[in-house]
Amino acid sequence: MNFSNLHRSHYLQQLTSTNFDVLVIGGGITGCGIALDAALRGLKTALIEKEDFASGTSSRSTKLIHGGLRYLKQLELKLVHDVGTERAVVHRNARHVVIPEKMLLPIVEGGTLGEFSTSVALWVYDVLAGVKKTERRKMLNKSSTLKQEPLLAGDKLLGSGLYFEYRTDDSRLTIEIAKQAYQEGALLLNYLSFEDFIYTNGKITGVKAHDKVTGKNIEIQAKTVVNACGPWVDLLRKKDDSLRGKRLQLTKGVHIVFPYQKLPLKQAVYFDVGDGRMIFAIPRNGITYVGTTDTVYSDSIDKPQCTKADCDYLLKALNTMFPGLGLKLEDIESSWAGLRPLIHEDGKSPSELSRKDEVMVSDTGLISIAGGKLTGYRLMAEKVMDLVVEKSGGKYPSSSTAYKRLGGGNFSSEENFRESRETLLAKAIGQNIPVTVAEVWFQRYGIYMSYVLKNAEQVRNSFAEETEWLLAAELLYAIEHEMVYHPADFFIRRTGDIYFAHPSTKNQLQSATEFLCSKLPVGDLAKQQMLEDITAAYRSAVSFE
Ligand code: FAD
Repeated sequence: MNFSNLHRSHYLQQLTSTNFDVLVIGGGITGCGIALDAALRGLKTALIEKEDFASGTSSRSTKLIHGGLRYLKQLELKLVHDVGTERAVVHRNARHVVIPEKMLLPIVEGGTLGEFSTSVALWVYDVLAGVKKTERRKMLNKSSTLKQEPLLAGDKLLGSGLYFEYRTDDSRLTIEIAKQAYQEGALLLNYLSFEDFIYTNGKITGVKAHDKVTGKNIEIQAKTVVNACGPWVDLLRKKDDSLRGKRLQLTKGVHIVFPYQKLPLKQAVYFDVGDGRMIFAIPRNGITYVGTTDTVYSDSIDKPQCTKADCDYLLKALNTMFPGLGLKLEDIESSWAGLRPLIHEDGKSPSELSRKDEVMVSDTGLISIAGGKLTGYRLMAEKVMDLVVEKSGGKYPSSSTAYKRLGGGNFSSEENFRESRETLLAKAIGQNIPVTVAEVWFQRYGIYMSYVLKNAEQVRNSFAEETEWLLAAELLYAIEHEMVYHPADFFIRRTGDIYFAHPSTKNQLQSATEFLCSKLPVGDLAKQQMLEDITAAYRSAVSFE
């Protein structure tokens, strides 16, 4: 059975009639990672998500699988080692969506980075992260730096360090993990919200949940419940009356997107701002995105917004580092804001708070996990599941996610990856699909691009315009294999088009909603609401209060 909301009533029936070994609440990268680890160990596993998979922080990050060079400054050596070495693992398991990216670290007069200290820091980073020879750091002088990135301010430039990170698409990586977990036997459902715990003799034995699609309330039985709700973790701990000791401190980070012509970087740059923060500027498929800020946050968790002050901060930093461009607020094409679920530490500023993860277990048996990074999601899942297994008497095997390929990333080697890519791109070109579209499809779907190609063949004669049948081919795949229910699932989390292809997406909102509602059992009222919601989401990507 495909991973599709077409089977929603079957999933709901399974959820109410099974006593699960583990139930995960929260379908971000942490929760989906836990569901995959659990299913691979043979546990009966379920996951519920109140909105869409990755609709929380896991679609709002800088979209890097990185070792956290910045954390060297804070001497978090273990964290740098753990997430640094993990980069290669995530790349190996999802090569299509985790792509090596050279990063330039400019050294400027009066900046916080010196030539010697940067060289040593990058060397330590390479050693701690176990970076392979071909990807080790190089130090560049001023003229080589300007060749690498001509837009940098030349007057104060001293040189740079060039090192490797990995670029990803956070929500696509999350959905690939969810798809793999489903394939391994876990049951994962979006738009099903946790409402309350069920207790037997003081221990949690299940949860009450609300189905946002049908409006029905259900009960799910589980031997262990894991709270992987990211910024919402403490709300569930409060509900369980176990919010004691460590607590979350939320900080907000925003990103802004420019059309490539406005910020035409040849290469990704990671630069320091006077206040000690570091900012990424990353060119990608026709745009350049920039972030991030880091400010204490105590507003609505559900709808963090990018404000004008956030934009001004990033614009000032950009216009200092790339002074020839004169970037303005009107040049920003779209934006997103996300919340970091960090662990509170007295007296520390947002940037100083550790990105380490933390597992908390309550007397009622609730296991909560918070903090961490996208990059370390697999290690976090392993840690949580080791605990679940230990609690259950240890009758399950140890984690096997280290070599588990994710979703469309099932390539046996780098060579096999290249061959598969060439074959699929050639097939797409043979079907008259523009090569730029084919390349994006491969990055999104990996080997499953073959399904999208098949869809394209099937639907092309039903539409007059090329853009229409290309959209329908992808939408059909997203509905039938990726649990898309709402247009926002598609435009924000399965494709990211609302941010990265903002102008052209506008004309697709209505037709995509019509198409989606013709395939899924959605009534007229719900359809109208969906159209209003996706239009509002489209607008909020460029409204800065
Ligand atoms: P989330 O993704 O927020 O998932 C929690 C889920 O729980 C949500 O989907 C939510 O809807 C669901 N939920 C909440 N309440 C309920 C309920 N009642 N019932 C059911 N479901 C519920 N990390 C990196 O490695 N690289 C980066 O480049 C990077 N950049 C970042 C930049 C920014 C600005 C931010 C904010 C973070 C960044 N991170 C980065 C960190 C990374 O994004 C997070 O650590 C990670 O996404 C957290 O995932 P999560 O699954 O724990 O939380």
